[in-house]
Amino acid sequence: MLFAWLGTIILLCCECQSISKSSYDQHRPSARPDLQRYGEGRAGAVLAQASGRRSLHQNALQSEDVPKTVSSDFTHQAVLTSYLTNKELETYMQGYLRRCGHMARMFSIGQSKEGRSMWALELSNNVGAVEAKPNARFVGNMHGDEPASRQLLLGLAEWLCQHRTSDNRAARIVNDMHLYLVPSVNPDGFEHKLRHNLGDVDLNRDFPDPLLLGSTGLHPTGDEQPETLALMKWTTETRFVASASMHEGAIVANYPWDGSTSPNTTYSASPDDAAFRHLASVYANAHLDMHKSQEFPGGITNGAHWYPLSGGMQDWAYVSGQCMELTVELSQHKWPSEEQLPALFKANLPAMLAFPLAAAFSGLRGSVHGRLVTLGGNTTDFDKPLPATINVEGIDHAIQAGVLGNYYRPLAPGTYNVSAVMKGYSAMSTQVTVPSDGAGVSHDFILLCTTCQDKDGQAETKDAYIEEGSHMRTAIYAFVAVGGGKTVRRQMCVQASVAAGCSIPCKWW
Ligand SMILES: [Zn+2]
Repeated sequence: MLFAWLGTIILLCCECQSISKSSYDQHRPSARPDLQRYGEGRAGAVLAQASGRRSLHQNALQSEDVPKTVSSDFTHQAVLTSYLTNKELETYMQGYLRRCGHMARMFSIGQSKEGRSMWALELSNNVGAVEAKPNARFVGNMHGDEPASRQLLLGLAEWLCQHRTSDNRAARIVNDMHLYLVPSVNPDGFEHKLRHNLGDVDLNRDFPDPLLLGSTGLHPTGDEQPETLALMKWTTETRFVASASMHEGAIVANYPWDGSTSPNTTYSASPDDAAFRHLASVYANAHLDMHKSQEFPGGITNGAHWYPLSGGMQDWAYVSGQCMELTVELSQHKWPSEEQLPALFKANLPAMLAFPLAAAFSGLRGSVHGRLVTLGGNTTDFDKPLPATINVEGIDHAIQAGVLGNYYRPLAPGTYNVSAVMKGYSAMSTQVTVPSDGAGVSHDFILLCTTCQDKDGQAETKDAYIEEGSHMRTAIYAFVAVGGGKTVRRQMCVQASVAAGCSIPCKWW
């Protein structure tokens, strides 16, 4: 029979769902909590225990002559024997590039108030490239008098370089993602042994607060410090799946919200509370000691349940950057002695490996593409990556796929209804189960274009509804409409229904 219709028709089974309006505005507190308190909690009240710094010889740092330790795991452990000055840190990173430049790039995310660079390392087997791989980061030394992360992150860079071919975790981080390390985002504070920056501002109280401003008021106000602005710009431009900002004053993995509608210590759950608790537990459980905490059950805490604060980076990064950010407290006391650095590194290394991998790969991941598909399942030459919105039913926090159509959605183990939505395309939904073994689950969405044309003519999409068991499913048809009657439509509909795997042929409209 000669079809009067040209080519394309498809039927897919799915269940539609709507996107609920953001409820961030519902959490606005009536008054701004105290911004002046010092420390990251009870332990934060302990005075900084700043030890004396001894400089490393810069020439030694630039060469392969850095003293080797007896450890076979980690050759360049000299980085864990001393707090490097800001200049030494820059020089060390340049030396690292000479040894590990095949998997590293060094750049500055911005300048401090006093004009110092906020140096970053990108670690990947394809640095600088925009890929479908996930980005994650560690941010150090936001409070200038909490410097352990400066050395621990350099240690992590060394360890990953040395073990990229011998350790599965290192290989996966280097080969399958882009990991960014910023040893110091407050180099001025470190230089002067101050918590604040040189503008006398606590950088972890300087971000636009989603609970105060709502989700639409998270752009720079113009009053932020240069370090804060640099972090905001970098966060929104790079799109990190997850981040950990490293502090001192306790040993715990802290997760949003830090903000609260109450000035008291009340649990303040974000829409992704389950996922945040899961990721914080990943860090705490992999840490040698954190999960054994007597103060914090499981070594984790909700920020506001510990103590509420406004203007912190993690709440802003979650809302504005779609970044699952933790605030990780590394040491009971601020500015731990240099002799403690190797033990701190040993305790945190497994967690620093587990956390970015879990955020990237233990939840839901996949891609979104827009297509026109022929009846026989052959795709046309139209196949477009879509930066679609990914919604998880019951979680009022949508994320957006990347420009290459890739998405990474950290989730706690469980079963979820997930949809992909893009203007001009038919929304698609699916049900996924995130396993508890950390393997994650992947799902690739194919959205049918409702406004596209292919080379043969006008495309048209219609929806029809079929009953399958007790479920009402949506059958989506896309076809090139150039004529034809009901008989042709019915034949193509039935064939498409079978091709799409529906147990009951659709009822054509
Ligand atoms: Zn801190």
